[in-house]
Amino acid sequence: MQLLFSDVRKKHGEALHVAGVMPSRKPEKIREVQAISPLTFQGETRWEDGGVRLTGVLSYTAQLTCVCCLKAFEASFRVSVDERFRPAAVASVDDRTGGRGNRRKTRPGCPGESAAEEDASGLNVEVIAGEAIDVERVLQELSIVHLPWTPVCRADCRGLCPSCGRDLNEATCDCALETIDPRWLALRSLRDHL
Ligand SMILES: [Zn+2]
Ligand SMILES: [Zn+2]
Repeated sequence: MQLLFSDVRKKHGEALHVAGVMPSRKPEKIREVQAISPLTFQGETRWEDGGVRLTGVLSYTAQLTCVCCLKAFEASFRVSVDERFRPAAVASVDDRTGGRGNRRKTRPGCPGESAAEEDASGLNVEVIAGEAIDVERVLQELSIVHLPWTPVCRADCRGLCPSCGRDLNEATCDCALETIDPRWLALRSLRDHL
């Protein structure tokens, strides 16, 4: 799935519908991620501020491993997308005038001022070399960025017992009793003194 700057520009700010299903990319280095489903995108694109703005919703599911109980589980994601792209030619004009990517202080009244203000507004613009935006690559990256750092199968997952390794969601074990029951502590200190 690709978007051409020229195709969006010639619509003069009118929205172009963008939708499709595309393959996902599995992050090799994150062992808690077993698989990601194909990515579904529903949205639109328009020409804005000398570049392309892509908005919409990205949905997919992922097979993850719970970091507490080490069981596999499936989670669904709906990511709100709002990405901006500018052709490299436009960006290099800004660089010359002290704008984007240039931390030099702009003198008052200098033509670079408006570009610097745009940067200060906090908009994240990706500069694209060439005429085409690889939407598939952008959405694949977003799908990975929005996966949880530490996946947990459910909010109250009790995890594994650190002593015997039993899944505490399924059963309790005596190790847990021993550490929390004060009577056992008392007995143990008695035993230690025998
Ligand atoms: Zn769990
Ligand atoms: Zn245990």
